[in-house]
Amino acid sequence: MSNLHNLLEKVYRTNDLTKEEIMYLLENVTQADREVLYGYALKTKQAYYGDKVYLRGLIEFSNICRQDCLYCGIRASNGKVERYRLTPEEILACCDQGHKLGYRTFVLQSGEDLWYTEEILVDLLCAIRKSYPGVAITLSIGERSVATYQRLLAAGADRFLMRHETASPELYEKLHPTMRFEERRACLSALKNLGYQVGAGFMVGLPGQTLADLAEDLRYLKEFHPDMIGIGPFIPHSETPLGAEKSGTLEATLVMVALARLLIPDSLIPATTALGTLDPQGREFALKAGANVVMPIITPTSVRKQYALYENKIYGDDQLEDCLDCLERRIQAAGFEVDLSRGDSQQFISR
Ligand code: SAH
Repeated sequence: MSNLHNLLEKVYRTNDLTKEEIMYLLENVTQADREVLYGYALKTKQAYYGDKVYLRGLIEFSNICRQDCLYCGIRASNGKVERYRLTPEEILACCDQGHKLGYRTFVLQSGEDLWYTEEILVDLLCAIRKSYPGVAITLSIGERSVATYQRLLAAGADRFLMRHETASPELYEKLHPTMRFEERRACLSALKNLGYQVGAGFMVGLPGQTLADLAEDLRYLKEFHPDMIGIGPFIPHSETPLGAEKSGTLEATLVMVALARLLIPDSLIPATTALGTLDPQGREFALKAGANVVMPIITPTSVRKQYALYENKIYGDDQLEDCLDCLERRIQAAGFEVDLSRGDSQQFISR
């Protein structure tokens, strides 16, 4: 048996690999090995979560952002994007529609838009809680103070998504001229300590990213043990400094999804929109490589196209995302069942 096969067996059996082992695997993996890897990740997912795929309604409520991330289409310096901001009433109306469709988790995501003060967000969370007592509310609004995170949790937020983006401090600071590596990590730790279900994660194929960086991403996740892990390919946006760079690949992203499943087996892992953008079957491939969440965009169609983090993003204007039956059929065709319940992480359930 080759060294690589031993490593695949090891990660399947022990849910652990050293950084060196991960690097060896990433450097030497063949297409045949990838199939074995995806199979192990699928079996591991099934052992922890069965064949369920949890759906979350994603509401992109503002594309206004004070940060200037080099890869992102809604960065502050992009003067070409038409900006929008949904009012709390519009966000509630969107939750209402989502709730009628059957969603029981809402993910509120935005640029870092300080128009939404702590007070506004607290009122919004209370209003959502009041109307839909049993739903899970996830925030993905970037960096705020620990005191604010605490009040948002007290007001009813359950979960918080904040990708660490890359585990390389040098690459992080190059890509985020307005942000600090340590600060991002501190936010993630604070969110976890406060009691949120926390989602971390990273992009694959960032310009300048090495295999050692990707191995470090996985090691960081293994150590941090988040409830959710978002992994997507980098996709360039022409109105950014990285507009001429190449996208991350489907294969590289799927390998990272599968390894994340094996290393952090009790986590919730979305088949990301970015993967679905890279390949029409991207999300199905991810579900077969260990992912178990899909986050359909339920942002009002009037502004949906303006939340363009990268180019050619799928917006569901083919109705697919708005039609839960269609999505359900698609997920079933891939061999899984849709679950519309809150879908908490196994780690959270056993806490
Ligand atoms: N402002 C929030 C939400 C960020 S947008 C926050 O700071 O958490 C959600 C995610 O989209 C980001 O974390 C990033 O990983 C991803 N993203 C942004 N631009 C991208 C691009 N060009 N290609 C792929 N993913 C991108």
